[in-house]
Amino acid sequence: MAKVALVTGGTRGIGEAICNTLKNKGYKVVANYGGNDQKAQEFTERTGIPAVKFDVSDFEATQTAIQQIEVDFGPVEVLINNAGITRDGTMHRMSFDNWDAVIQTNLASCFNTCKAVIDGMRARNFGRIINVGSVNGQAGQYGQVNYAAAKSGIHGFTKALALEGAGKGITVNAIAPGYVDTDMVRAVPEDVLAKIIKTIPVGRLGKPEDIANAVAFLIDDESGFITGSTLSINGGQHMY
Ligand code: NDP
Repeated sequence: MAKVALVTGGTRGIGEAICNTLKNKGYKVVANYGGNDQKAQEFTERTGIPAVKFDVSDFEATQTAIQQIEVDFGPVEVLINNAGITRDGTMHRMSFDNWDAVIQTNLASCFNTCKAVIDGMRARNFGRIINVGSVNGQAGQYGQVNYAAAKSGIHGFTKALALEGAGKGITVNAIAPGYVDTDMVRAVPEDVLAKIIKTIPVGRLGKPEDIANAVAFLIDDESGFITGSTLSINGGQHMY
């Protein structure tokens, strides 16, 4: 039977590419999104993949929504924690709200979603969890204390949960994308982006599919010996 794969932030950008790639590989994919109903509707029309709205930074809402997803589609055997936001600003200008929103959405969300699926995965002796980190969580980035803290937190979270899942057939890995051509990166001013591209040895932004292919590899049944790892996918920009 097809495995259910839940992709948070699955309706746009990297998440959409992950959804499409997993669907093509035979997974029963469910996408989550946070607020943009129009983009979600267009996504479902385009892909035929259902999109479920809930705020991954809200613990209770996430428990309720994932319980309903399991009723509607079956147990979640693959979880891709991809939803993320940026609220950039240097430390002296950053508000507490922008700090907190990024920590809650990018890091606390991993606790919220994993909490909802971990008991089932343990009971079934199988699970695949991928947490989407970032090159900026590995290297740091000017104007991103919130984002870099959340993303580097993801890498620690991944290793700890990998240890806990290892005896139960649950693998937990992180990917650390470099700059990928999505709405998030298109929000960067053009002159800044041009400078960033000059620092990428392969000479281009990543494509969402570059990330999706790596996710598909890491969640494969045959990848059960890969756990607790962080796979950097950044065109050679940062070698960790
Ligand atoms: P996009 O901004 O293109 O899409 C973000 C997705 O996350 C949307 O589906 C959005 O839903 C969803 N989302 C945001 N907040 C919430 C929330 N509170 N609850 C549920 N869903 C939410 O992002 P990207 O595709 O660029 O990025 C995907 C991931 O990859 C992020 O974690 C990002 O940090 C990471 N990343 C991206 C890089 C890049 O260069 N693009 C580089 C390194 C890492 P909605 O449409 O409703 O807003």
